[in-house]
Amino acid sequence: MLLSGNAKLLGRYAVLLSGFAKIRIKSSHYFMSKIAFKPFLVIFKGSHFHLKPSSLLSAFRKMENLPPAKAGARPASSFVCDKAYVNGEWVAAKNGKTFDVVNPASGKVIGNVPDMDANDVQNAVEQAFRAFQTWKETTAKERSVYLKKWAELCWQNQEELAKLLTTEMGKPFAESKGELAYGTTFLDIFSEEARRVYGEMIPTTAHSRRLLVLKQPIGVAGLITPWNFPNAMITRKAGAAIAAGCTVVLKPAEDTPYSALALAKLAEEAGLPKGVLNVVTSSRTNAPEVGKVLCKSPLVSAISFTGSTAVGKILNEQAASTIKKCALELGGNAPFIVFDSADIDAAVEGFMGCKFRCSGQTCICANRVFIQDGVYDKFASKLAAKMDGELKMGDGMQQGTTQGPLINQRAVEKVDEHVKDAVSKGATVMRGGNKKGGNFFEPTLLSGVTKDMKCSQEETFGPLAALHRFKTEDEVVTLANSVRSGLAGYFYSRDLGQIWRVAERLEYGIVGVNEGLVSSPEIPFGGWKESGLGREGGKWGIEEFIEIKYVCMGGIGK
Ligand code: NAP
Repeated sequence: MLLSGNAKLLGRYAVLLSGFAKIRIKSSHYFMSKIAFKPFLVIFKGSHFHLKPSSLLSAFRKMENLPPAKAGARPASSFVCDKAYVNGEWVAAKNGKTFDVVNPASGKVIGNVPDMDANDVQNAVEQAFRAFQTWKETTAKERSVYLKKWAELCWQNQEELAKLLTTEMGKPFAESKGELAYGTTFLDIFSEEARRVYGEMIPTTAHSRRLLVLKQPIGVAGLITPWNFPNAMITRKAGAAIAAGCTVVLKPAEDTPYSALALAKLAEEAGLPKGVLNVVTSSRTNAPEVGKVLCKSPLVSAISFTGSTAVGKILNEQAASTIKKCALELGGNAPFIVFDSADIDAAVEGFMGCKFRCSGQTCICANRVFIQDGVYDKFASKLAAKMDGELKMGDGMQQGTTQGPLINQRAVEKVDEHVKDAVSKGATVMRGGNKKGGNFFEPTLLSGVTKDMKCSQEETFGPLAALHRFKTEDEVVTLANSVRSGLAGYFYSRDLGQIWRVAERLEYGIVGVNEGLVSSPEIPFGGWKESGLGREGGKWGIEEFIEIKYVCMGGIGK
């Protein structure tokens, strides 16, 4: 019962994320016999290791405990790099410093990587700027071929890259495979979009002139990414930038540098010319100075950031100093509304995936759950039963786990603070509510939540389902729109008029109607209000890295 429930939740999520379903995960864990993966073609042409295998292994001790790679596959440890990647070289920080990377499930240090500072990133920017001078001259077809090759290598090594991801980030292995599929599909999509950056002709205003619109790469792109999707947030940005003809300097999150470096390793194997993709790793302490160089350097032309709204505001202000184009994918505080007319079983099912994947640590996770009076009790009791039956905490590599650890202690403390605050203001704990040691927090269900509680005003970013009761459509739309975030919103209703009204009235960049899992690489992902600027994914993502040039060609008339 437990396993089939898990299988349904995670299987559905992984299939949705995989887009065109290169994989179809039918079970919650790869150990289980029900799983039906397409066999992977493992073609490793080798010869690209820049580190001795022995140092690789010692740098990633946890790998010893991972299940072995399938016959013929490269093991996860072969993707572990303990150097940053700048101008095609694997390099240490100039000052020699490193920082530890920790497995959030065990709390153990699994390795360390360079702790780069302003000097290192300045150098990476200069290399990227130099590389841009030739990369921008490549044809769209050439860029497309590089990206396709990069994607092929990611597909071939999906399973082992997913092990690496779970080990540094904590999400269940099946979810990591889903993320790899999602992330790699961005490379596929942008390899195709590279060829479709069309210019335009404008009907002339004079016989002697022709009016053209050219689209050209903007320049060096500075990318800063979060830990919750250590692979996909990178491919969503870097794939688009490189397809457009830009070069990239990427700073991944302190918690998850290995997935970023593994992507760089595969880009190198795909033959991407040196300097096109540069990865600078830095600790949380150095992140502000690294970000400042990227934002203020006149050699960088665009910033693309995914992370918290607070940091997004800092970067936007810094980037103003050089009037840089900014794409900002920031925090959410998603409403999840269930109207009286909804199919309650479908709403509960949709909510489980929306709220509990990644242990509630996604920017589009439901945060405020509004249930209409007539179905409130039914929804709450069905949800409690579903949580009992389907959620299992544990190490993401363990069989049956659906709830991995939170990323770190700060995250655990935030959930704890939100639960305590809500209870002190009158909410009732229906399930969970406690820290469980290390970075684990129980999946929690609170009833009787109100808008003055912290969990309503801020993104909890953890496994907390906070139920509010409401009476009318007007009331709930006003409540849903009352925050400054505007990333994703969801509602369940079977009233056609209400579906149109509410879909149009919600002030959100992404709206799920009778659907809790809305991400897909093909769609324009982005938020309104303080959830960001610009869009990522699909044909929209590439536009963030393009400049428009109007050319007026005269002297044509007789
Ligand atoms: P964060 O603290 O804003 O960190 C994101 C990235 O910014 C990390 O690489 C971080 O480096 C870096 N950073 C932190 N302070 C910086 C500074 N002053 N200057 C330059 N870089 C800086 O966010 P997070 O905790 O990692 O991620 C959670 C947040 O991201 C949530 O609010 C979530 O909603 C949002 N998010 C949004 C989307 C979206 O698409 N809209 C997707 C995923 C997550 P360190 O790791 O080294 O601190």
